[in-house]
Amino acid sequence: MDGADPLKHRLRLWLKSEEALGLPSVPRVEFAEVVPPPPIAAARSPAAPRAAPPTLAARTAANSVVTTGAGSMNTLLPLLDTPFDGPILARDEKIKQLKELDENSVKGCVKCGLSRTRTQTVFGEGDPDAPICFIGEGPGKDEDASGRPFVGRAGQKLNDMIGAMGLKRQDVFICNIVKCRAYLTDIGKDRPPSEEETAACTPYLLRQVEIIRPKVIVTLGLPSTRYLLKSKDSMTRMRGNWHVWRGIKVMPTWHPAYVLRNYTEQTRGEVWNDLKKVLTELGLQIPKRSGKQE
Ligand code: URA
Ligand code: SF4
Repeated sequence: MDGADPLKHRLRLWLKSEEALGLPSVPRVEFAEVVPPPPIAAARSPAAPRAAPPTLAARTAANSVVTTGAGSMNTLLPLLDTPFDGPILARDEKIKQLKELDENSVKGCVKCGLSRTRTQTVFGEGDPDAPICFIGEGPGKDEDASGRPFVGRAGQKLNDMIGAMGLKRQDVFICNIVKCRAYLTDIGKDRPPSEEETAACTPYLLRQVEIIRPKVIVTLGLPSTRYLLKSKDSMTRMRGNWHVWRGIKVMPTWHPAYVLRNYTEQTRGEVWNDLKKVLTELGLQIPKRSGKQE
């Protein structure tokens, strides 16, 4: 740690992860130049032609405008939070770039110690044009075994949450903050990724999101929420409110594993409220709550 200066420490971790991607240095943006993110819908290129029935990506292509809202921008590290400004890629190009990122960089990655204990990396999956990207913590035992994100019990719960929104798993993109399983090898118990592991791995997440450019990110649980929001705050304080990261609206909510551990009307109601805000933001209809789905 850099003494008592958490800002310095976070900056150092960030620089390390940017360096790992081969990025030259801190973007040269003056504080005064930091402007609210542009409306993502307006910045999008026309949707690629595709056959009926329309996908979720097509249904949400023209609505939803990103607004920052007073106080929602992180004021601590504005330099690190500049919106992605490259062009929105065509679907085929997204697929190609995601595949390249996975096969050329992630699959063989040994940037942190988790490479020594993983069975395989878990890149993430879903629609590359998805308007919503769910970001979890990291692969667990089932994901490490299958190579796919959220396929265990928590994954089933996430499927229920997506279903309650009136959507399908293949409508969205699902990934994690780290791509290899973090666990206590002596007892086989999953653990959250460390700051160093997160710093080593997040350049991949950054690239993924930059390629996909979802309209909304839903962070599931503390590690991904804290990383994106650059905050040490509790989930209780962060969830349910809109935040902005790199010009993309972020809605933190409870991790499905937490929902399973705290299966109360309150927790489930909070998740449902958060997901309803996401649907509203995307201009999608809010299905009637079934009471047992989410
Ligand atoms: N929990 C996560 O955070 N991610 C997964 O992929 C599975 C469980
Ligand atoms: Fe590489 Fe990420 Fe796996 Fe660490 S967790 S080895 S940085 S892919």
